Amino acid sequence: MRKPFIAGNWKMFKTTKEAVAFAETFRTLYEPSDVRVAICAPFTQLAALKQAFAGSGVGVGAQNMHFEESGAFTGEISAPMLQEIGVDYVIIGHSERRQYFAESDETVNKKLHKAFAAGITPILCVGEVLEQRDAGQALDVVKAQVEGGVAGLSSEQAKSLVIAYEPVWAIGTGRTATPQQAQEMCAHIRSVICGLYGSEVSEEVVIQYGGSVKPNNASELMDMEDIDGALVGGASLKPEDFIQIVQF
Ligand code: PGA
Repeated sequence: MRKPFIAGNWKMFKTTKEAVAFAETFRTLYEPSDVRVAICAPFTQLAALKQAFAGSGVGVGAQNMHFEESGAFTGEISAPMLQEIGVDYVIIGHSERRQYFAESDETVNKKLHKAFAAGITPILCVGEVLEQRDAGQALDVVKAQVEGGVAGLSSEQAKSLVIAYEPVWAIGTGRTATPQQAQEMCAHIRSVICGLYGSEVSEEVVIQYGGSVKPNNASELMDMEDIDGALVGGASLKPEDFIQIVQF
């Protein structure tokens, strides 16, 4: 049985003070259930968030990391640095990083390997842009991103992987994919994983949908068979909104 997993992606929002205030309010609203919950925040907030969420059951994730453990990479953060402060998750290959920071399937793949080596669960983001969807290429694009991303991972690693399907045209646009569109792609992703690792693994891999998930559309998305969770941007910034999605 796959456990639902709702993760917030704060992107480049909130100071540490604001992050801690969020955590304090969220803790008053949140009751642990069988839904897995995490907040993925900017690097500077992670240590304070780990402390602020301690004992609450809410996980903490980063939004990126470098694929080397250390070295002359000015401005970068490595997996051991995240591991040291107890970070639980790391988003890898978000479309904004693919678009603005030249993230490729190759760097994504290296990062996944490093995350697993450090005991941090990666959330692998995949998704097509609008032109690719309009040209009928969405299934192929996402298949290539999944295959490129997971290359060389063991079955055990693949089982604990989280994949977020985020159509780029739905991110921050208010234009959510329909539950049917999201389901079709999440089922496709599961079948790609099945082709690589077999059904025992594909039945366990957690697949989220992301792109304008809001309190008013979370439950219809979560009703879909192959959608196990959500990666939530804008609507994760306010505890009152995020809790409604967590309680879909
Ligand atoms: P959004 O962002 O919910 O604001 O569309 C989702 C994401 O980019 O992860």
